[in-house]
Amino acid sequence: MKAAVAKSAFVAAAIGFVGNGLPVWAETPLPPSQVRADLAEMLNGDGLHVVLCGTSSPLTDPNRANACAAVIAGPDIYIIDTGPDSWEVVARTGLPGAQISAIFLTHFHSDHIGALGEFRMNTMVAGRNEMLPVYGPVGVSRVVEGFNAAYAIDAKYRFEHHGVEVIDVEAAPMVPHEFGSGFGAELDKEEVILERDGLKVTAFQVDHDPAHPAVGYRFDYKGRSVVIGGDTAKSANLVENAKGADILVCDSLSVPIIRFLQQSQSAVGNSRLAKILEDIQSYHASPIQCAEMANEAGVGLLLYTHHIPSAQVTNPVYMQGVSDVRPAETWRIGNDGTRVSLPVGTGEMAISEMLEAQ
Ligand SMILES: [Zn+2]
Ligand SMILES: [Zn+2]
Repeated sequence: MKAAVAKSAFVAAAIGFVGNGLPVWAETPLPPSQVRADLAEMLNGDGLHVVLCGTSSPLTDPNRANACAAVIAGPDIYIIDTGPDSWEVVARTGLPGAQISAIFLTHFHSDHIGALGEFRMNTMVAGRNEMLPVYGPVGVSRVVEGFNAAYAIDAKYRFEHHGVEVIDVEAAPMVPHEFGSGFGAELDKEEVILERDGLKVTAFQVDHDPAHPAVGYRFDYKGRSVVIGGDTAKSANLVENAKGADILVCDSLSVPIIRFLQQSQSAVGNSRLAKILEDIQSYHASPIQCAEMANEAGVGLLLYTHHIPSAQVTNPVYMQGVSDVRPAETWRIGNDGTRVSLPVGTGEMAISEMLEAQ
Protein backbone atom coordinates (compact mmCIF):
# COMPACT_ATOMS: atom_id res chain seq x y z
CA MET A 1 0.00 0.00 0.00
CA LYS A 2 2.75 2.41 0.92
CA ALA A 3 4.65 1.69 -2.26
CA ALA A 4 1.45 2.09 -4.26
CA VAL A 5 0.79 5.47 -2.68
CA ALA A 6 4.28 6.66 -3.43
CA LYS A 7 4.16 5.44 -6.97
CA SER A 8 0.75 6.78 -7.88
CA ALA A 9 1.23 10.05 -6.04
CA PHE A 10 4.26 10.87 -8.11
CA VAL A 11 3.76 8.68 -11.10
CA ALA A 12 5.17 11.35 -13.40
CA ALA A 13 8.25 11.83 -11.27
CA ALA A 14 10.95 9.23 -11.33
CA ILE A 15 11.71 7.68 -7.96
CA GLY A 16 15.25 8.02 -6.66
CA PHE A 17 17.09 6.14 -3.95
CA VAL A 18 19.23 7.52 -1.18
CA GLY A 19 20.81 4.23 -0.15
CA ASN A 20 24.19 5.38 -1.39
CA GLY A 21 23.61 8.89 -0.10
CA LEU A 22 23.15 10.25 -3.61
CA PRO A 23 19.53 10.44 -4.73
CA VAL A 24 18.78 10.62 -8.41
CA TRP A 25 15.57 11.58 -10.10
CA ALA A 26 14.03 12.96 -13.19
CA GLU A 27 10.74 14.68 -13.36
CA THR A 28 7.80 15.62 -15.45
CA PRO A 29 5.65 18.30 -13.85
CA LEU A 30 2.11 17.28 -13.08
CA PRO A 31 -0.93 19.26 -14.25
CA PRO A 32 -2.70 21.19 -11.43
CA SER A 33 -5.68 18.83 -11.22
CA GLN A 34 -3.30 15.90 -10.81
CA VAL A 35 -1.31 17.79 -8.18
CA ARG A 36 -4.43 18.34 -6.11
CA ALA A 37 -5.58 14.73 -6.39
CA ASP A 38 -2.12 13.52 -5.46
CA LEU A 39 -2.00 15.84 -2.46
CA ALA A 40 -5.15 14.25 -1.10
CA GLU A 41 -3.64 10.82 -1.65
CA MET A 42 -0.41 11.98 -0.03
CA LEU A 43 -2.26 13.14 3.09
CA ASN A 44 -3.91 9.73 3.38
CA GLY A 45 -0.62 7.86 2.98
CA ASP A 46 2.25 7.50 5.41
CA GLY A 47 5.23 9.62 4.52
CA LEU A 48 7.22 12.74 5.22
CA HIS A 49 6.93 15.42 2.57
CA VAL A 50 8.09 18.97 2.07
CA VAL A 51 6.30 21.49 -0.15
CA LEU A 52 7.89 24.91 -0.67
CA CYS A 53 5.32 27.69 -0.33
CA GLY A 54 7.71 30.65 -0.65
CA THR A 55 11.24 30.75 -2.02
CA SER A 56 12.00 34.46 -2.36
CA SER A 57 13.49 37.05 -0.02
CA PRO A 58 12.91 40.77 0.57
CA LEU A 59 14.32 41.82 -2.82
CA THR A 60 11.35 42.04 -5.17
CA ASP A 61 10.27 39.13 -7.34
CA PRO A 62 6.77 39.01 -8.84
CA ASN A 63 6.99 35.26 -9.37
CA ARG A 64 7.77 34.00 -5.87
CA ALA A 65 6.39 34.41 -2.35
CA ASN A 66 8.63 35.05 0.66
CA ALA A 67 9.88 32.37 3.06
CA CYS A 68 7.55 29.43 3.65
CA ALA A 69 7.75 25.63 3.71
CA ALA A 70 5.12 23.04 4.50
CA VAL A 71 6.19 19.77 6.11
CA ILE A 72 3.62 16.99 5.98
CA ALA A 73 4.03 14.07 8.37
CA GLY A 74 1.32 11.47 7.95
CA PRO A 75 -1.98 13.40 7.90
CA ASP A 76 -0.65 16.49 9.66
CA ILE A 77 0.52 19.66 7.93
CA TYR A 78 3.06 21.97 9.56
CA ILE A 79 4.05 25.37 8.18
CA ILE A 80 7.54 26.77 8.71
CA ASP A 81 7.54 30.56 8.30
CA THR A 82 4.77 32.63 6.78
CA GLY A 83 6.44 35.19 4.51
CA PRO A 84 4.36 37.73 2.55
CA ASP A 85 2.22 36.11 -0.18
CA SER A 86 2.91 32.59 1.07
CA TRP A 87 -0.70 31.81 2.00
CA GLU A 88 -1.62 32.23 -1.65
CA VAL A 89 0.95 29.61 -2.65
CA VAL A 90 -0.37 27.22 0.00
CA ALA A 91 -3.86 27.69 -1.39
CA ARG A 92 -2.68 27.11 -4.96
CA THR A 93 -1.02 23.84 -4.00
CA GLY A 94 -4.36 22.59 -2.71
CA LEU A 95 -3.11 21.93 0.83
CA PRO A 96 -6.21 21.97 3.06
CA GLY A 97 -5.94 24.86 5.50
CA ALA A 98 -8.08 23.18 8.14
CA GLN A 99 -5.48 20.42 8.41
CA ILE A 100 -2.63 22.77 9.32
CA SER A 101 -1.71 21.53 12.80
CA ALA A 102 0.84 24.17 13.78
CA ILE A 103 3.11 26.92 12.52
CA PHE A 104 6.81 27.18 13.34
CA LEU A 105 8.67 30.49 13.03
CA THR A 106 12.45 30.52 12.57
CA HIS A 107 12.91 34.19 13.53
CA PHE A 108 11.01 37.44 13.28
CA HIS A 109 12.26 39.23 10.20
CA SER A 110 9.20 40.43 8.30
CA ASP A 111 9.92 38.25 5.26
CA HIS A 112 9.21 35.24 7.54
CA ILE A 113 6.13 36.45 9.42
CA GLY A 114 4.30 38.91 7.15
CA ALA A 115 1.45 36.52 6.24
CA LEU A 116 0.89 35.10 9.75
CA GLY A 117 -2.43 36.91 10.02
CA GLU A 118 -3.49 35.53 6.64
CA PHE A 119 -2.78 32.00 7.90
CA ARG A 120 -4.88 32.72 10.99
CA MET A 121 -7.79 34.02 8.92
CA ASN A 122 -7.69 31.55 6.03
CA THR A 123 -7.35 28.42 8.17
CA MET A 124 -10.34 29.65 10.17
CA VAL A 125 -12.34 30.16 6.96
CA ALA A 126 -11.22 26.71 5.77
CA GLY A 127 -12.81 25.17 8.86
CA ARG A 128 -10.15 25.02 11.54
CA ASN A 129 -11.96 24.36 14.83
CA GLU A 130 -9.09 24.51 17.30
CA MET A 131 -6.83 27.40 18.18
CA LEU A 132 -3.68 27.38 16.04
CA PRO A 133 -0.36 26.73 17.85
CA VAL A 134 2.57 28.89 16.72
CA TYR A 135 5.98 27.67 17.89
CA GLY A 136 8.99 29.93 17.98
CA PRO A 137 11.95 31.08 20.01
CA VAL A 138 11.70 33.83 22.60
CA GLY A 139 9.74 36.69 21.07
CA VAL A 140 7.06 34.57 19.42
CA SER A 141 4.46 35.49 22.07
CA ARG A 142 4.80 39.17 21.25
CA VAL A 143 4.51 38.51 17.51
CA VAL A 144 1.49 36.21 17.85
CA GLU A 145 -0.32 38.53 20.24
CA GLY A 146 0.19 41.37 17.79
CA PHE A 147 -1.28 39.43 14.86
CA ASN A 148 -4.14 38.19 17.05
CA ALA A 149 -4.99 41.77 17.93
CA ALA A 150 -4.72 42.97 14.34
CA TYR A 151 -7.00 40.23 12.95
CA ALA A 152 -9.61 40.05 15.75
CA ILE A 153 -11.98 42.54 14.09
CA ASP A 154 -11.76 40.64 10.79
CA ALA A 155 -12.81 37.41 12.53
CA LYS A 156 -15.77 39.20 14.14
CA TYR A 157 -16.91 40.57 10.75
CA ARG A 158 -16.77 37.13 9.15
CA PHE A 159 -18.55 35.47 12.07
CA GLU A 160 -21.36 38.05 11.95
CA HIS A 161 -21.64 37.75 8.17
CA HIS A 162 -21.38 33.97 7.66
CA GLY A 163 -22.62 32.68 11.02
CA VAL A 164 -21.55 30.12 13.55
CA GLU A 165 -21.99 27.24 11.08
CA VAL A 166 -19.15 28.60 8.95
CA ILE A 167 -16.90 30.63 11.25
CA ASP A 168 -15.74 29.25 14.58
CA VAL A 169 -14.68 32.58 16.01
CA GLU A 170 -13.81 31.01 19.36
CA ALA A 171 -11.12 28.95 17.64
CA ALA A 172 -9.78 31.86 15.59
CA PRO A 173 -6.84 32.90 17.80
CA MET A 174 -3.31 31.61 17.46
CA VAL A 175 -1.57 30.37 20.62
CA PRO A 176 2.16 31.04 21.06
CA HIS A 177 4.47 28.25 22.22
CA GLU A 178 7.73 29.90 23.18
CA PHE A 179 10.90 27.85 23.66
CA GLY A 180 14.63 28.25 23.98
CA SER A 181 15.03 30.73 26.78
CA GLY A 182 18.77 29.90 26.71
CA PHE A 183 19.04 30.48 22.96
CA GLY A 184 20.81 33.55 21.73
CA ALA A 185 24.07 33.70 23.66
CA GLU A 186 25.69 30.55 22.29
CA LEU A 187 25.28 28.95 18.91
CA ASP A 188 25.33 25.28 19.89
CA LYS A 189 21.90 24.72 21.40
CA GLU A 190 19.02 22.50 20.37
CA GLU A 191 15.72 21.51 21.95
CA VAL A 192 13.02 18.95 21.16
CA ILE A 193 9.86 21.04 21.03
CA LEU A 194 7.22 18.62 19.77
CA GLU A 195 6.70 14.85 19.78
CA ARG A 196 3.47 13.51 18.37
CA ASP A 197 2.32 10.44 16.42
CA GLY A 198 5.80 9.37 15.36
CA LEU A 199 6.99 12.91 14.59
CA LYS A 200 9.80 14.60 16.50
CA VAL A 201 10.56 18.28 15.88
CA THR A 202 13.88 19.65 17.10
CA ALA A 203 14.71 23.37 17.08
CA PHE A 204 18.36 24.35 16.89
CA GLN A 205 20.23 27.61 16.84
CA VAL A 206 21.68 29.04 13.65
CA ASP A 207 23.84 32.07 12.97
CA HIS A 208 21.82 35.02 11.68
CA ASP A 209 23.64 37.65 13.71
CA PRO A 210 22.48 40.28 14.67
CA ALA A 211 19.02 38.64 14.55
CA HIS A 212 18.76 36.73 17.86
CA PRO A 213 17.38 34.21 18.41
CA ALA A 214 17.25 32.50 15.02
CA VAL A 215 16.60 28.79 14.67
CA GLY A 216 16.22 25.96 12.19
CA TYR A 217 13.99 22.91 12.59
CA ARG A 218 14.57 19.22 12.07
CA PHE A 219 11.56 16.97 11.42
CA ASP A 220 12.11 13.24 12.05
CA TYR A 221 9.25 10.93 11.14
CA LYS A 222 9.49 7.14 11.16
CA GLY A 223 13.05 7.04 9.84
CA ARG A 224 12.76 9.91 7.34
CA SER A 225 13.96 13.46 7.98
CA VAL A 226 13.76 17.01 6.67
CA VAL A 227 15.79 19.94 7.97
CA ILE A 228 14.68 23.55 7.44
CA GLY A 229 17.76 25.69 8.04
CA GLY A 230 16.00 29.05 8.37
CA ASP A 231 18.14 32.12 7.72
CA THR A 232 21.78 31.47 8.53
CA ALA A 233 25.37 32.05 7.62
CA LYS A 234 27.50 28.91 7.41
CA SER A 235 26.76 27.19 10.71
CA ALA A 236 28.46 24.26 12.46
CA ASN A 237 25.33 23.77 14.53
CA LEU A 238 23.22 23.44 11.39
CA VAL A 239 25.64 20.77 10.13
CA GLU A 240 25.41 18.96 13.46
CA ASN A 241 21.62 18.96 13.45
CA ALA A 242 21.33 18.03 9.77
CA LYS A 243 23.48 14.90 10.13
CA GLY A 244 22.16 12.11 7.91
CA ALA A 245 18.96 13.94 6.98
CA ASP A 246 17.21 13.05 3.74
CA ILE A 247 16.68 16.72 2.81
CA LEU A 248 18.31 19.99 3.83
CA VAL A 249 16.41 23.14 2.83
CA CYS A 250 19.01 25.93 2.78
CA ASP A 251 18.74 29.70 2.34
CA SER A 252 21.32 31.26 0.06
CA LEU A 253 22.74 34.56 -1.14
CA SER A 254 24.77 34.96 -4.33
CA VAL A 255 27.73 37.06 -3.26
CA PRO A 256 28.90 38.03 -6.81
CA ILE A 257 25.40 39.13 -7.86
CA ILE A 258 24.72 41.07 -4.65
CA ARG A 259 28.14 42.73 -4.90
CA PHE A 260 27.36 43.73 -8.47
CA LEU A 261 24.03 45.22 -7.37
CA GLN A 262 25.73 46.94 -4.46
CA GLN A 263 28.32 48.55 -6.74
CA SER A 264 25.63 49.55 -9.24
CA GLN A 265 23.57 51.26 -6.55
CA SER A 266 26.64 52.96 -5.17
CA ALA A 267 27.56 54.22 -8.65
CA VAL A 268 24.17 55.89 -9.08
CA GLY A 269 24.32 57.48 -5.65
CA ASN A 270 21.84 55.22 -3.84
CA SER A 271 24.02 54.83 -0.76
CA ARG A 272 21.11 53.62 1.41
CA LEU A 273 20.42 50.53 -0.73
CA ALA A 274 24.15 49.99 -1.30
CA LYS A 275 24.66 49.85 2.48
CA ILE A 276 21.84 47.33 2.92
CA LEU A 277 23.22 45.17 0.09
CA GLU A 278 26.60 45.21 1.81
CA ASP A 279 25.19 44.35 5.24
CA ILE A 280 23.10 41.36 4.15
CA GLN A 281 26.13 39.48 2.83
CA SER A 282 27.23 38.62 6.38
CA TYR A 283 24.24 36.61 7.56
CA HIS A 284 23.24 34.26 4.75
CA ALA A 285 25.15 31.27 3.42
CA SER A 286 26.35 31.34 -0.17
CA PRO A 287 25.20 28.53 -2.49
CA ILE A 288 28.63 26.93 -2.19
CA GLN A 289 28.54 27.15 1.62
CA CYS A 290 25.14 25.41 1.57
CA ALA A 291 26.71 22.64 -0.52
CA GLU A 292 29.61 22.38 1.92
CA MET A 293 27.22 22.12 4.87
CA ALA A 294 25.15 19.48 3.05
CA ASN A 295 28.29 17.46 2.35
CA GLU A 296 29.55 17.73 5.92
CA ALA A 297 26.15 16.63 7.23
CA GLY A 298 25.84 13.81 4.68
CA VAL A 299 22.33 14.79 3.56
CA GLY A 300 20.68 13.20 0.54
CA LEU A 301 19.15 16.22 -1.21
CA LEU A 302 20.11 19.88 -0.87
CA LEU A 303 17.11 22.04 -1.71
CA TYR A 304 17.80 25.75 -2.16
CA THR A 305 15.28 28.35 -1.05
CA HIS A 306 15.15 32.00 0.11
CA HIS A 307 17.17 32.94 -2.97
CA ILE A 308 18.88 36.34 -2.77
CA PRO A 309 18.17 37.79 -5.23
CA SER A 310 15.55 35.28 -6.34
CA ALA A 311 14.90 37.03 -9.65
CA GLN A 312 18.47 36.03 -10.59
CA VAL A 313 18.45 32.46 -9.28
CA THR A 314 18.44 30.96 -12.78
CA ASN A 315 21.33 33.19 -13.85
CA PRO A 316 24.26 30.75 -14.27
CA VAL A 317 26.35 33.01 -12.03
CA TYR A 318 24.08 32.29 -9.05
CA MET A 319 24.94 28.60 -8.67
CA GLN A 320 28.37 28.85 -10.22
CA GLY A 321 30.78 26.39 -8.61
CA VAL A 322 28.17 24.43 -6.66
CA SER A 323 28.49 21.32 -8.82
CA ASP A 324 32.25 21.36 -8.20
CA VAL A 325 31.46 20.87 -4.51
CA ARG A 326 28.48 18.53 -4.76
CA PRO A 327 27.19 16.36 -7.65
CA ALA A 328 24.57 18.12 -9.75
CA GLU A 329 21.97 15.41 -9.16
CA THR A 330 22.11 15.96 -5.38
CA TRP A 331 21.05 19.62 -5.27
CA ARG A 332 18.17 21.54 -6.69
CA ILE A 333 16.82 25.10 -6.93
CA GLY A 334 13.52 25.19 -5.03
CA ASN A 335 10.50 26.94 -6.53
CA ASP A 336 7.13 27.89 -5.10
CA GLY A 337 5.31 24.55 -5.25
CA THR A 338 8.37 22.28 -5.36
CA ARG A 339 7.42 19.08 -3.57
CA VAL A 340 9.66 16.30 -2.31
CA SER A 341 8.18 13.10 -0.92
CA LEU A 342 9.83 10.56 1.39
CA PRO A 343 7.64 7.46 1.76
CA VAL A 344 8.06 5.73 5.12
CA GLY A 345 9.79 2.36 5.11
CA THR A 346 11.73 3.00 1.92
CA GLY A 347 14.81 4.92 0.80
CA GLU A 348 12.76 6.49 -1.96
CA MET A 349 12.66 10.17 -2.76
CA ALA A 350 10.35 11.73 -5.35
CA ILE A 351 10.24 15.31 -6.51
CA SER A 352 7.81 17.29 -8.61
CA GLU A 353 6.96 20.87 -9.47
CA MET A 354 3.59 22.59 -9.38
CA LEU A 355 2.36 23.92 -12.69
CA GLU A 356 0.32 27.10 -12.81
CA ALA A 357 -3.28 26.79 -14.01
CA GLN A 358 -3.48 26.70 -17.81
ZN1 LIG B 1 16.25 36.84 8.37
ZN1 LIG C 1 14.77 35.98 5.43
